Amino acid sequence: MSERFVGRGDQVLVAGAGRSGLQAARLVLERGGKPVLVDDDPQAFDGAPWASVLAEGGRVLEGARIGPWIREWAGPVVMSPGIPPILWSGKAVAPPLPNVRGELEWAATLWDLPVVAIAGTNGKSTTTALIAHLLSSFGFSPFLGGNFGTPFSEGVRLLLEARKAGRKDPYDVGIIEVSSFQTESMQSFSPDLYLLLNITPDHLDRYDSLEQYRQAKLHVMRQFSETTTVVWNAGQQDWESFLQNMKARSVFVGVESSLPGPGIVLENGILRTQDLESNIQVSAANYRLIGGGNLQNLAFSVLAAHLFSERSKRSLPPGSFEKAIAAFSGLPHRMEWVDTVRGVSFVNDSKATNVGAVEAALSGLPETERPNVVLIMGGRDKGGSYRPLIPGLKKHVREVVILGEAREKIRQEIGGEVPIEEAQDFFEAVARAFSVADPGEMVLLSPACSSYDMFHGYEERGERFRDAVRRLAEKFGGKRRNDGAEGNA
Ligand code: ADP
Repeated sequence: MSERFVGRGDQVLVAGAGRSGLQAARLVLERGGKPVLVDDDPQAFDGAPWASVLAEGGRVLEGARIGPWIREWAGPVVMSPGIPPILWSGKAVAPPLPNVRGELEWAATLWDLPVVAIAGTNGKSTTTALIAHLLSSFGFSPFLGGNFGTPFSEGVRLLLEARKAGRKDPYDVGIIEVSSFQTESMQSFSPDLYLLLNITPDHLDRYDSLEQYRQAKLHVMRQFSETTTVVWNAGQQDWESFLQNMKARSVFVGVESSLPGPGIVLENGILRTQDLESNIQVSAANYRLIGGGNLQNLAFSVLAAHLFSERSKRSLPPGSFEKAIAAFSGLPHRMEWVDTVRGVSFVNDSKATNVGAVEAALSGLPETERPNVVLIMGGRDKGGSYRPLIPGLKKHVREVVILGEAREKIRQEIGGEVPIEEAQDFFEAVARAFSVADPGEMVLLSPACSSYDMFHGYEERGERFRDAVRRLAEKFGGKRRNDGAEGNA
């Protein structure tokens, strides 16, 4: 699809009043179109952020429902990823339509700079932030956004506005996180690099099956041209059926697995690229993120940053990677150490909203003689099974404190395998976990569920966890208060 998807004077239906909808509407205005706004919540456009869009000619469809309008709109439609296609197409994944584009894909058609896209079930945000951090340290000016942080439409608009004003481009590359809700509808997306970190069950409340969710991430491979390089996880088998059937080049990341082609391997704390145009060796010794799939995220990030620097003909002084890696402190709510109170360390992994993330959290913990973690789990169920957690729970977890809508299902599936206690609310869950944990042990919030039964999102859940820990620290004295220590678990 070309830039002409939105022409001057076009009435463009912008569906969804969230951050993506807002930035899409602003980009429509920048393109000379007229945004027509629809959301199922009639008050959604009342807030201050929308005032400038309305002042510049945006129009709200009062009392309208999203579904019928999308079905009937003849002009261009820009969709927010949060709108389930079932609302307007009757299907979990909508068939492609020439007049309907996802916000991110439409923005990408207007961006003529390189794009590194990061996809996968878990680790996208960390990897996106880490690649942007590496490239910034090497002197590039990345735009960092997409599904994480700033919608791509905003980056595109800032770029176009700078050019119109005769200013220098503010960016030279886009580091773009893409979720399955964004890739599922893509028809022509063609990034320079597409990283597929992993696929494990998630979002089964929106997709009909795991296979449909997998395809939402994989189908784009068939659209890519020779100019795209796909970075695969060698430890997962998804690449096997694509190697012969796509135009894009494949490279691989191997952590605990050998490579079927060129790429990068991590062995004994050293990352080594192999069979690339130029090869590098990078020590991971000063990487501060432990647990989860963070080593995998590092390997993907180093390979992506190397391929991009190589492509840009930027030669880096020795030690550049190591220096930049040491300065990366990770993102909040992902295996984040909060405090240690009476010898019990509290780790906030509120972003672990699916079983795969909790599995990774547990498998990244150091081996101990006996289980030493009290795990807080539960929230809104997303339709998968909790049983894959059992081996990790048996190895690391002394007790699980369950809460939220999913607690009965969790109890049915893992009860009998590990001791379980139930809490009525979030503060009670943290207090109970603290009363169970002995000095030297860990209380880990890694819920395997979304937070929407009790909170507005995982960030709020993580904040409440911090509040609860702060209260305990005020009462019993915390390490952070005493010596100001900080770190990432
Ligand atoms: P995403 O943006 O894909 O949700 P995040 O970086 O925000 O990824 O991490 C989400 C959750 O997954 C966190 O709980 C984090 O600890 C865990 N995680 C991070 N990287 C990985 C990985 N490579 N594999 C599995 N889990 C991971």
